[in-house]
Amino acid sequence: MTAARIVVVGGGFAGTNLVKALKGKLPAGASLTLVSDESYTCFNPMLAEVVGASIFPEQVVAPIREILRPDAMRHFVMGRVVPRRPGRALARVRLARRHPPDRL
Ligand SMILES: Cc1cc2nc3c(=O)[nH]c(=O)nc-3n(C[C@H](O)[C@H](O)[C@H](O)COP(=O)(O)OP(=O)(O)OC[C@H]3O[C@@H](n4cnc5c(N)ncnc54)[C@H](O)[C@@H]3O)c2cc1C
Repeated sequence: MTAARIVVVGGGFAGTNLVKALKGKLPAGASLTLVSDESYTCFNPMLAEVVGASIFPEQVVAPIREILRPDAMRHFVMGRVVPRRPGRALARVRLARRHPPDRL
């Protein structure tokens, strides 16, 4: 039997907490990958306070690689999962577009 490959879609509260909860609980050989189209998690309920300038934006945003440290480099892919035909067990990932610098 081939090892399970689990893909979690979305790096919000649900996705990051699921990845953390599954850590150390997967069967041997199984892989776990988090795919999200943003590199950060935003604590939406406090956006109003950011707008009101009572807290700083960086207080409601946390980089996914920081949340999932130290395993993030192996487990996080930045990109958007695009729909497949129903019944096909395949997650197709459109990788985040690269932004070449104007000047290096
Ligand atoms: C103003 C406001 C106030 C709120 N107040 C409360 C509150 O008081 N109490 C409470 O319990 N909840 C509250 N909520 C709701 C709470 O923020 C959400 O329940 C929570 O953020 C949901 O987490 P999630 O992981 O499901 O989704 P999200 O946090 O939205 O994360 C989803 C992530 O998945 C990514 N994503 C989506 N589709 C794809 C794709 N196809 N491929 C790759 N990545 C994808 C998104 O970019 C995002 O990063 C509030 C929300 C708002 C906006």
